[in-house]
Amino acid sequence: MSHSLVTMSYIVAAILFILSLSGLSNQESARKGNYYGMLGMAIAIIATTLSASVTVYSVLIAAIVIGGLIGAKAALKVEMTQMPELVAIMHSLVGLAAVLVGYANFMDSSIAITGVEKTIHEVEIYIGILIGAVTFSGSVIAFGKLSEKINGKPLLLPGRHWFNLALLFAVIGLGAMFLQQTEAGGEAIIPLAIMTAIAVLFGIHMVMAIGGADMPVVISMLNSYSGWAAAATGFMLSNDLLIVTGALVGSSGAILSYIMCRAMNRHFLSVIAGGFGTASGGEAAAIEGEVQPIEAEEVAKLLQDSKNIMIIPGYGMAVAQAQHTVNEITKLLRDKGKKVGFGIHPVAGRMPGHMNVLLAEAKVPYDIVFEMDEINDDFGNVDVSIVIGANDIVNPSALNDPNSPIAGMPVLECWKGETTIVLKRSMASGYAGVGNPLFVLDNTRMLFGDANTTMQAVLKALKG
Ligand code: NDP
Repeated sequence: MSHSLVTMSYIVAAILFILSLSGLSNQESARKGNYYGMLGMAIAIIATTLSASVTVYSVLIAAIVIGGLIGAKAALKVEMTQMPELVAIMHSLVGLAAVLVGYANFMDSSIAITGVEKTIHEVEIYIGILIGAVTFSGSVIAFGKLSEKINGKPLLLPGRHWFNLALLFAVIGLGAMFLQQTEAGGEAIIPLAIMTAIAVLFGIHMVMAIGGADMPVVISMLNSYSGWAAAATGFMLSNDLLIVTGALVGSSGAILSYIMCRAMNRHFLSVIAGGFGTASGGEAAAIEGEVQPIEAEEVAKLLQDSKNIMIIPGYGMAVAQAQHTVNEITKLLRDKGKKVGFGIHPVAGRMPGHMNVLLAEAKVPYDIVFEMDEINDDFGNVDVSIVIGANDIVNPSALNDPNSPIAGMPVLECWKGETTIVLKRSMASGYAGVGNPLFVLDNTRMLFGDANTTMQAVLKALKG
């Protein structure tokens, strides 16, 4: 394929990626956005494969087949609840790829450039490996935390900020040494290897220091890093499409991190520095009071007697796969003339947009699905709120206990409605590991059991 045809294909692919991102910003157009992305990626792969830069096809095809098979197997096998872990591990692979490409470029003796061009290329290699290594190790730790293989509590080493600062200075110093050594034809691999080890350590330390409830920001931040790692790889390989795609992922991930921080009332820097919400020193207040259980038939009766119903889904709805039953109940109640809405917290579930994906899958109409900000002032008019497997996102202590690890995070204030029904299996805490005083409030009733089973029972009672 001629160079100009490859360039043209890259431009088309880049446009498709931009269309894909804009499609994904809205539920109605998300499916189309995905198709644009797939088409763009197919064009990009075909154009790259047929370009003059590929000389050994056997290796490339073997890599595509092996990688494709692993990807397809993982995607087919993964449960919806394991999606965030899969995304985290994919980010780590992008980081690892950037590191490997960086080293391959460094060792490639066929690259014949000199002077400033050579120095720029070396800086690209150094930065590419640095971002790649941080993304790699940070994502592996994020995977561990999300899959609960690693404790979600923040690891707060004494003097951790100084430790990070020392690592930063070491990386800058090693960068200068690396450039000097390459210039002098010395052992530049030594500072490069030490920097890689430091970057890996920094990635581990950074994510270990971030507390459970702040993980959404970490995920979007690592998403952003993986984009910048890909862009750096694009610079190393002089591949324009990789630069554009990496920059798109990097900047959209950064915007998402910012949105997440704002939604959680966090400062980006304090999340990254780690241990947010644990610095107050005091103990979180103990939860005292009596839990009032309720049966499915009584819930159905309550719903029959109410006019305005708000459903608040959380991670437990994903675990129970209760969205289809919830949709059936919603349809039934709306047919009976009830007003039913869904309140979505920005960090509900385990990944950005998690609840929206589940509700869209169950075909819940988009116009009754509201963002937290849109409905949080309306709970005074709500007769019954049904909290389906949610915990942290409806925890009042975020607002009134300054010692709570989630203090300051806005939550859905369902307790301001007449009655709240909470569906969960036990009194266990949510992802942030904090007790929830909502469960013992006078106007709260607990419907214990797997959310799909209990919702089925409510549906049966409503039909009966
Ligand atoms: P939580 O993790 O706070 O609570 C989920 C609740 O669901 C648990 O208390 C659990 O209680 C219950 N549950 C689990 N399985 C079932 C089931 N089968 N049936 C019924 N209930 C069930 O989830 P939230 O959605 O309220 O909050 C999200 C949390 O995750 C926040 O802390 C957020 O910061 C964090 N997070 C969010 C990410 C994102 O991007 N959205 C990413 C990473 C973390 P029980 O065991 O008793 O049933």
